[in-house]
Amino acid sequence: MTLTAMRTIAAARRALADRLRQAGIDSADADARLLMAHALGIDRAELMANGERALNGDEMKAIDALGERRLKREPVARIFGRKEFWSLSLQVSPAVLVPRPETETVIEATLDAVVRDALQTEKLRILDIGTGSGALLLALLSELPNAVGTGSDISAAALEVARANAERNDLAGRCTFVACDIAAGLQGPFDLIVSNPPYVARSDIASLAPEVRGYDPALALDGGPDGLDGYRAIAADARRLLAPGGRLIVELGMGQEPAVRALFTTAGLIVAAAHDDLAGIPRALSATVAP
Ligand code: GLN
Repeated sequence: MTLTAMRTIAAARRALADRLRQAGIDSADADARLLMAHALGIDRAELMANGERALNGDEMKAIDALGERRLKREPVARIFGRKEFWSLSLQVSPAVLVPRPETETVIEATLDAVVRDALQTEKLRILDIGTGSGALLLALLSELPNAVGTGSDISAAALEVARANAERNDLAGRCTFVACDIAAGLQGPFDLIVSNPPYVARSDIASLAPEVRGYDPALALDGGPDGLDGYRAIAADARRLLAPGGRLIVELGMGQEPAVRALFTTAGLIVAAAHDDLAGIPRALSATVAP
């Protein structure tokens, strides 16, 4: 038996955390715990309880392989191939954005409006434009038991992920997925339209975190020269697609509220106050059709 094969779980975890920290990864300790537990096929509580157990060579190799991926800035969610969003476990692939916590603000804003209008048990028709992993559509369907939905995406590979996520969360019976750009060719009416469009200004993509620019699909980030192309396309289609009394709720990039508000107002929509995310950034904007 070699000396390295005698390394304990606790020592390997500390060594991995140190390597990640030295590489400038802020979440080094948490990531080391997650990756170790994943490599060993145990949960984090077992990992912490078994710190003195010696690792064998195969276990060491498995840990190293995951550590190398994280050192190349691959996000933990991509290494695992899944991410929690709202109350759902979602599969992710290179074709989709990793769902982010701030995107839950769109769900909160939507459910707030639905509850305020006492529509929770209605057969609401939902459209999610640029559905990606299906995160927004599936979270809403999980909360609204009688709603039905459509997810659109320009990427066929993304739609495969969304379909798989609908299946794994037992929601496939209430949704369909359509390959198209924004909403081209879709017929309304929809009671709720939600979207997290690509909203990063093209020239800003290079300065995003390496986890984002290196791994999220460019198609899902690139909002054109000013980041607003997706909102323009949505604004152009919103009145055609919304049912009377229907509502559009979009995620905003940082600082985009005034510009998106102006675009939607010009398109004949009535725009409400934005919902802030947990960092206090205006993150979800909701609009209805002017009568
Ligand atoms: N939230 C992503 C970012 O890191 C952008 C996602 C999007 O363009 N919708 O900026």
